Amino acid sequence: MTRLKQGWALSAGVVLALGVFVNVASATHSWGGYHWARTTPQFTLKLGNNVSSGWQVYLSKASSDWNSPQATGWTGAQPLLTSIVAGASNRRCSMVSGTTQVCDSNYGYNGWLGLASINIINGQHITQGSAKMNNSYFNLGTYNNPNEKQHVMCQEIAHTFGLDHQSTDGTSQNTCMDYYSNTGANAENPASTTPNYHDFEELAIIYAHLDSSSTVSSSPATKPSPNADVDVNDDDPNSWGMLVSQSNGGRSSSYERFNRDGSKTVTHVYWTLEAAAKCPSCDHRYDGGH
Ligand SMILES: [Zn+2]
Ligand SMILES: [Zn+2]
Repeated sequence: MTRLKQGWALSAGVVLALGVFVNVASATHSWGGYHWARTTPQFTLKLGNNVSSGWQVYLSKASSDWNSPQATGWTGAQPLLTSIVAGASNRRCSMVSGTTQVCDSNYGYNGWLGLASINIINGQHITQGSAKMNNSYFNLGTYNNPNEKQHVMCQEIAHTFGLDHQSTDGTSQNTCMDYYSNTGANAENPASTTPNYHDFEELAIIYAHLDSSSTVSSSPATKPSPNADVDVNDDDPNSWGMLVSQSNGGRSSSYERFNRDGSKTVTHVYWTLEAAAKCPSCDHRYDGGH
């Protein structure tokens, strides 16, 4: 055995012996380092409830699942709690400072199932977010089942925490932060409808530091942000800005738009199976009807 190979074998042995190290190394799905600025180790993010009656159960379960790291075996720091508050938005889901607004609507056959947008200042600080579910597709047979709805709701709100995906290849990592499809033969399978251990591990990493000020709303949000520069129709694909990344299979894309007030809006798009299959490497905004 060469010296190099011995070194590798030794490293692998050490890594296997220190199981905790393996776990830390595998939670690497921060979304661009984006996070809410806060001055305390734990904070509560308000989820503005603008969803219709059919979606209440999914929003409520997603909030509760993200508040329950113990269910996954995670016993470390829990920096982020969610609380559902009265919605302060509208069907277009205008963002409201310091909160995440959650909405569903018939946004049209534009190829996307779910959207998550966050507004960023000072490079990495989230000031407001929105999560939208597109009923134009969820009302169709393919997507109209509880597991698929729970998966997408759980994922879209968590993007506004600063989490990215654990996987985009369609396999189940048993987290809602993957692209397993709870459709067709898998419609009855509840895999990937809740967060897993690594999601809570990643949140603890993202929020390990404190900031000198806070971007989180501490009082009930009552009206949409008056910032007209930022408050555009984010469900209009032409408002998302530039395509900055897309997964191999074409189901996940992210876009960035720079606003006149100096902030940046970043959007994660969860495309339908059909939009992705049509042309996996295309910007699905421009590859024809869906
Ligand atoms: Zn910070
Ligand atoms: Zn996503």
